[in-house]
Order: sequence, then C-alpha cells, then structure tokens
Amino acid sequence: MPVYKAPLRDQQFVLHEVLHAVDAVRKMPAFHELDADTVNQVLEEGGRFCSEVLLPLNLSGDEQGCHFDPSTHEVRTPEGFRAAFDQWREGGWQGLTAESEYGGQALPHMVQIAFDEMRCGVNQAWTMYSGLTQGAYECLLVHGSPRQKDTYLPKLASAEWTGTMCLTEAHCGTDLGLLRTRAEPQPDGSYRITGQKIFISAGEHDLADNIVHLVLARMPGAPAGVKGISLFVVPKFLPKGDGASAQVGARNALYCGGIEHKMGIHANSTCQVVFEGATGWMVGEANRGLNAMFVMMNGARLAVGVQGLGLTEAAYQNAAAYAKERVQGRSLAPGAKSDKPADPIIVHPDVRRSLLTARAWAEGGRAFSYWLALMADQQHHHPDEGERKFAGDMMALMTPVAKAFLTDNAFDGVSQCLQVFGGHGYIHESGMEQLLRDARINMIYEGTNAVQALDLLGRKVLMDAGARLRAFGKLVQAFVEEHGTSAEMSEFVTPLADLGDKVQKLTMELGMKAMANQEEAGAAAVSYLRVIGHLVFAYFWARMARVALDAAGRSGADPFYRAKLATARFYFQRLLPETAYHIRAARSGAKNLMELEAELF
Ligand SMILES: Cc1cc2nc3c(=O)[nH]c(=O)nc-3n(C[C@H](O)[C@H](O)[C@H](O)COP(=O)(O)OP(=O)(O)OC[C@H]3O[C@@H](n4cnc5c(N)ncnc54)[C@H](O)[C@@H]3O)c2cc1C
Repeated sequence: MPVYKAPLRDQQFVLHEVLHAVDAVRKMPAFHELDADTVNQVLEEGGRFCSEVLLPLNLSGDEQGCHFDPSTHEVRTPEGFRAAFDQWREGGWQGLTAESEYGGQALPHMVQIAFDEMRCGVNQAWTMYSGLTQGAYECLLVHGSPRQKDTYLPKLASAEWTGTMCLTEAHCGTDLGLLRTRAEPQPDGSYRITGQKIFISAGEHDLADNIVHLVLARMPGAPAGVKGISLFVVPKFLPKGDGASAQVGARNALYCGGIEHKMGIHANSTCQVVFEGATGWMVGEANRGLNAMFVMMNGARLAVGVQGLGLTEAAYQNAAAYAKERVQGRSLAPGAKSDKPADPIIVHPDVRRSLLTARAWAEGGRAFSYWLALMADQQHHHPDEGERKFAGDMMALMTPVAKAFLTDNAFDGVSQCLQVFGGHGYIHESGMEQLLRDARINMIYEGTNAVQALDLLGRKVLMDAGARLRAFGKLVQAFVEEHGTSAEMSEFVTPLADLGDKVQKLTMELGMKAMANQEEAGAAAVSYLRVIGHLVFAYFWARMARVALDAAGRSGADPFYRAKLATARFYFQRLLPETAYHIRAARSGAKNLMELEAELF
C-alpha cells in the first residue's frame, strides 16, 4: 500500500522563505488580513484530508474503475468515492478560493495550488471531479451573465453540482475549428444543443445532484473554423430558481453514451456525452466561445502541471522509503563494511540518481508552480496596474511551460521511482505502476505537450517579439547581478547566467528561421520548451540555494537546508545539462524531420 505524507516542510519553505508569498498577497486588498498561520493550518488540514480520506481510495479506485449502466446511462464511481466527495463538500473545501458572495472562502490561489498538489498526488482520478468544477466556476465567473452567475456559482462553489468542459468530438481534438456540435437559437433566448462530445472527464457520475456542462458549439451560419465557435452552459438537470437555494428541475435532453476503458485514471469517468436538442444558454459573446473557454483551459493547463507535480512527489516518497528498507548488494563506497549480508539499496549511486531526479523535478516544480499561482493572484488582485500586467504576461508565457515541462518531468520522475522498486514496481500492489499510468495522460489532455510547445514558441514568444520572455529574463538578470559575485553561489549563478545568454541567442535564431519558414518553429518547439523550462527551474533552484545557504550557515540549522543544497547541486550538475542536447536539436532545423516523404514512413 503506497504511503504519503503531506510535504508541509517544503511547501512552507517555498511559500514563506523563498517566495514570501503571504507578504506578497497582503499587498492586495482582497488578502490584507491573511497570515502565515492560516495558510499553514489550511495546508495541514488539507494534507490530513489527502492522507486519511483520498489516499486509501486510490488503489481500490484504480482496480474497480467506473461502471456504466447502458440501460440508465448512469455511471457509478468506485466504492468510497461518493462518501469522500460528501466529506469534501461538508468541509467546504471546494470553495477555498471562490468569492465570498458565492459562498467561498476567498483565499488566494497560491493556497489552492499547494493543496491541489497534495490531492493530485494521492488520488488524481478523484481530484479531477472537483478540479473541473473549479474550472467551470472560474469560466462562468469571468464570462457568465449575472443570472448565470447567480444560478451556478453558489452550487459549483459548494460542490453540490460539478462541472465539465466539453470540447472534444470524434473528428476534432487539437483542431477545435473542426467541431460540429450545433446550437440553434430559440425564441426564449435559449439554444438547442445537438451533437456528440467524446472524452469528457467527469461527464457523468454519482457524486453530485447536477452536472454543469460547458459546451463549445456552432450556431447556424457561424463562420468556419475557430471564429465560429460559441460557448454554452448546458446542465444535466435544468435549474429551478437561483442562488444557494436553486434546485434541480427537469432532466435535460442529454445523456452519457458510454465510458472509455483507458490506461490510467480509471476512477475518473471519461464519457461520451450525447446532446439531443438539449437546452443551453450562451456564455459570453457569440462566436467568441473559444476565448471564453480559455479561462477554463488555461486554469486546467496549470492544474494538469500540478497533477504532474503531485504524482512526482508521491512516487518520490514511496521510492525513498523503499530504498532505505530494501537490501540488495554491497556498497561500493571505499571502506564500507557491514556485518549484514547486504546493504539497503540507497547506498547505490544509481538508485540515488533516480531518487534525486524525482526529488529535483518535484521541488523545482513546486517553487515554479507556487510562484505562478502567486502571479495568478497578482494578475487579478494587485492594486498596481503595472504589477497586474506583469503578472498577466508571466501567466501567459509560463502556462504552456508549466503544463508540458512539469508533466514530462513527472513521467520521467515517476518512471525513475518505479525503477527503484525493481520488479516490484511493475506489480500493481506497489502503487507505482498506477502512478506511472496516471501520469501519462497529463502529457496528452488539455492540449498535448507538443501543442503547448507550439503555443510557447509561436504565440507567446515570437508573436510579441520576445517581450514577455525578456520580462522574465529581467528577473533572472537581476538575480544574477545580485548574487554573481558571491563565491558560494557561483556554482548556481554561472550556469543560470550562461543559459540565459543561450536562450536569447536561440530565440533570435529561431525567430529569424521561422520568419522564412514556419515549419522551422514547429520542428524546434518541443526542444525549445524544454530549454525554457530549465531556465525557469535553474532560476528557482538558484533562489532556493541562496535561501538554503544562508540558513544552513546558522548554528543548529535544520538538516532540511543541507538536503536542499545537495538537491540543488544535483539539479545543476545532472539535469540542467539536458539543455545542451535540446539547444543542438532545436538548432538542427526542420530538414532532418521533413525530408522523408510521408509514403516512406
Ligand atoms: C482521459 C482523457 C480525458 C479527457 N478529458 C477531456 C475533457 O474533459 N474535455 C475535452 O473536451 N477533452 C478531453 N480529452 C481530450 C483531449 O484533450 C484530447 O485527446 C487532446 O487534446 C488531443 O486530441 P486528440 O486526442 O484528438 O489528438 P489529435 O488532435 O488527433 O492529435 C494526435 C497527435 O497529433 C499531434 N498534433 C495534432 N495537431 C498538431 C499540430 N497542429 N502540430 C503538432 N502536432 C499536432 C498531437 O500532438 C498528437 O500527438 C480527454 C482525453 C482523454 C484521453
């Protein structure tokens, strides 16, 4: 049975010692009164919920999966899921960041991300039901009409109702411009929605009274492609009344046509949802539906990155514990002697390489994603317009990096941890093979990682002539200038500064090539994203090393800081050099990918 302990010490290190997150959010009127104790208490309590309620359901949820009844079109979630969701609802957890006028606790996003990391680590499949609900809440908050907000937000914030995002159709995944679901206007201002969506996470289940689908569809005569897509709110049961006292009314004309049998996240229902003239209402403006849906998609992309982070931490904890118990072989260390027949496998350098890889991915990802959550708070709540703009730019630039870099790293990190278990990791009961299967979907949904890379290089970097990237570069440069003369920091600052220079040159070179031929950007994008991901990680690892160096020098220092420094050194010496390969690959151009005719594949 896998174990999990909330990583509270490291969470507090990142939030309070590196990011000074509470001081940062207290500058925003919405969070004037927040204090560190409240943040710590929420995370402690949240961590307990994760370890005591969600973790015990992870393995059994994977084994049982979801069950679809074709006669009723209903989906039953695994045993214990509903009770855990009731507990979640009763604890008020869903509304952690929701506005108080809709019944939420109005805490900053950075608290939510830290909590989400733990939930995803212990039970990604369960967490997705509430994660999508939060995404639907945020989308309606920004783009919903006052009536829609009153009707749906209190129910979503309390988790009485859950949400979905309905984009994908059988012939239309990445390329949403191809979607065919129709929305016909009705005299009463509603729309009749007809079409079939596939792969809809949490599209049908038994956890809540109502399911609020946010559906992309096309109106008659709408322009072709993505400019003709509108967004509609289409509930499973039509609401009666509004506000917290809204009830479910008549059944809407939609149903679940079946669920997918898939590689991982078995306990999350992945549904075909059939709309047969279902009643829906437009959200936001006609033909601007993709724009409105992007609120949910961007939130979901960050959330998926955090799923990767959570799984990496969970895998690491289990592998580290196993490596200290499992005895095989003898230590190669000079002078190592033992009267026991074998040593614990943690003595072996390569086992340590695996463990440190996962640990460095997790701790670097934690600093990066918590900072990004802080940027989300700053973007929405900072009183200064310049700060809001900077934060918005960082969110736009870094969302694809968080989604793809953290989830690629997670698959690598979890796989390394499975390796630490040897053959036992390949066996179901260890829990490791489930974590690896669950981690795999994160590289695919919410826009595949290749598509994130295209978004980063094409839209977020080249389209604004590198302005956002330069804004991040200034943070790096300021750090380098401040700490560049410190001898003890040079092992961190020198490679960071060097990578910063290389990124500038690479970006210029790719920009020139892409102007002549866009395929050049397509061929370089995935490697480019990994290089940028490392620039971000190197920056946060250097910042963490600075804090750890200062603290480790004090008498009676917590050994935590020595561990942080050792992991920082491992990151800079063993993981960052991956950039050399990716810079070469990115510069090698499109020809080595494109010269072979399609028939010869
Ligand atoms: C378990 C699960 C849950 C999901 N949940 C949801 C959900 O809740 N709501 C929802 O709407 N959808 C959901 N999806 C759908 C998911 O978002 C899509 O599967 C994903 O976006 C990719 O689309 P596709 O599967 O059609 O692949 P395709 O778009 O057919 O892509 C196939 C391959 O081609 C590549 N590719 C495609 N276009 C390009 C391009 N322009 N440039 C470079 N490479 C390209 C892709 O990277 C991929 O490797 C889910 C999927 C799964 C498996």
